[in-house]
Amino acid sequence: IKAGEMLTADATALDAVEQGVMVEEANLKNTTVGKGGAPDREGNVTLDACIMAPDGNAGSVVYLKNNTHAVSVARKVMEDTPHVMLAGEGADQFARKKGFAKVELLTEESEKAYKEWLIKKEYIPLINIENHDTIGMLCIDKNGDIAGACTSSGLSYKMNGRVGDSPLIGSGLFLDNEIGGAVATGMGEAIMKNLSSFLIVELMRNGKTPQEACEIAVHRIIKSNPDYKDFQAAFIAVNKAGETGSYCIQKGFSYVKYQDGRNENIPSSYYF
Ligand code: ASP
Repeated sequence: IKAGEMLTADATALDAVEQGVMVEEANLKNTTVGKGGAPDREGNVTLDACIMAPDGNAGSVVYLKNNTHAVSVARKVMEDTPHVMLAGEGADQFARKKGFAKVELLTEESEKAYKEWLIKKEYIPLINIENHDTIGMLCIDKNGDIAGACTSSGLSYKMNGRVGDSPLIGSGLFLDNEIGGAVATGMGEAIMKNLSSFLIVELMRNGKTPQEACEIAVHRIIKSNPDYKDFQAAFIAVNKAGETGSYCIQKGFSYVKYQDGRNENIPSSYYF
């Protein structure tokens, strides 16, 4: 809603995607993004995020600790450094230099859940943790320009050091301002091995609708993962004309479309 309202008030797509995903990064109840996100199996909350601008520029942070708004740090990497991606301690130092306050990301609730997890230490990525896992967002502004953002605390109780698809340009997010954009959520390992967001944009370039492109990307993952019934992978895509599509492996994923002042929750079609 935040991003939609901003676009209605003539904000750029880039500002809208950043501030749109920031809402969930700050939401303590969301256990998969920003502050309140679940930690890794050693108790560290580490965030992955990226942002991509209509001109093809991109910024990304991985294994970022102590910052709620990973997407904003990613935007600073894009705008104020000669690089695309900063990791871990370096990303954290950079954030401090840019004036982001140091924040403890583990909350009372996420610490409690972690302590309960420690009793069994079972690592089972849940298929649909909640309706909105990683936050991926694509916006088109009044000039027709497309921007995208993707932000996540990654898989709950992942190994220390693990980085997912969400901060990887081409995996968790990709766009080409002449064609359209795509974002992903779900099992990062499967998405990374297929470069799914890049694939979706290339399929749209070759004439597929956003819906067809998302379906092909899911079929690719299924083909190379015999255990596909055990995990989720979900994609949303938009083309330059503003047509959208979404597809996922398992039932239970939905996405929100804001157009002409209307906010619509759309259940994604699924394979299995
Ligand atoms: N894609 C994210 C990751 O693998 C997790 C998620 O979407 O829930 O880090």
